[in-house]
Amino acid sequence: MLYQRTIAKKISITGIGIHSGKKVTLTLNPAPADFGIQFKRTDFLNAEVLVANALTVGATENNTTLGEGENAVHTVEHLLAVLYGLGINNVYAEINGPEVPIMDGSGASFVFILKETGISSLNRSKKFLVVLEPVKVEVGDKWAIIEPADKLIIDSTIVFTHPQIKNQHKVFEFSCESFIEDIGRARTFGMLRDVDTLKRRGLIKGGSLDNAIVLDDYKVMNPEGLRFQDEFVRHKILDTIGDISLIGHEVAAKITTYKSGHNLHNLLCRKLLGTESAYEIVSASSLQKEAVQAFELPLALAPSFH
Ligand SMILES: [Zn+2]
Repeated sequence: MLYQRTIAKKISITGIGIHSGKKVTLTLNPAPADFGIQFKRTDFLNAEVLVANALTVGATENNTTLGEGENAVHTVEHLLAVLYGLGINNVYAEINGPEVPIMDGSGASFVFILKETGISSLNRSKKFLVVLEPVKVEVGDKWAIIEPADKLIIDSTIVFTHPQIKNQHKVFEFSCESFIEDIGRARTFGMLRDVDTLKRRGLIKGGSLDNAIVLDDYKVMNPEGLRFQDEFVRHKILDTIGDISLIGHEVAAKITTYKSGHNLHNLLCRKLLGTESAYEIVSASSLQKEAVQAFELPLALAPSFH
């Protein structure tokens, strides 16, 4: 049996939002089985809870935002990717500002914090969304397709004219262990020449070399360099996992993306969820052993029973 997971105890994280530049405290609380991931803004009265679901996404420009207008939580994708990556299905997240802290621009800090907090198994089986027929979305020359496979596989291609990025392609076969090793640590990135334009649009006010890879026209400006030679495509896979986790279940499917971004990932989720014949929701017990084994955690993170 593969059980749903939550966190062992409450934990608070303080940091700044990359776009808002605002300091925020995010408190993650354990939650019961089938609760899902839910966010609540605590900095104004009577804010409605925002369920982490593809249909709750209000904006996808430079980040994934749940909700709209005043009651919104921006930049949820890296936290959601880590929760998916560690097989954590149920968390109640309270946040006293508009944006999840960016930490170091990757998922590494969240993995570290959750390792300290501990993970609990709940006495209910995980549910998987199994894809039955291909679903494709296209916007201009960008596209993404989700199709049947025994386990989650992400085949990602990014194309940039920048000499340090160029074309990068990676196929990632999901397991919690490989997520932590190969994907979770990959940082977000941006071009120095775009900084002014983005700031004028109210974005990346909190961005710096501490929370993003920054490139000038020729090279990476961060003195420590890259964490992986292909860190850029690895980060795209991190974003894809975070955005696809908004399907609300573990996923058994192959996802292939070409020049994708948050918008395309969300369109793919919405089209899939809107195509009844394209998927079914099943209990983990009816899946291939391999899909279940992928959710085994390394010893340091092994779940205890709640
Ligand atoms: Zn990202």
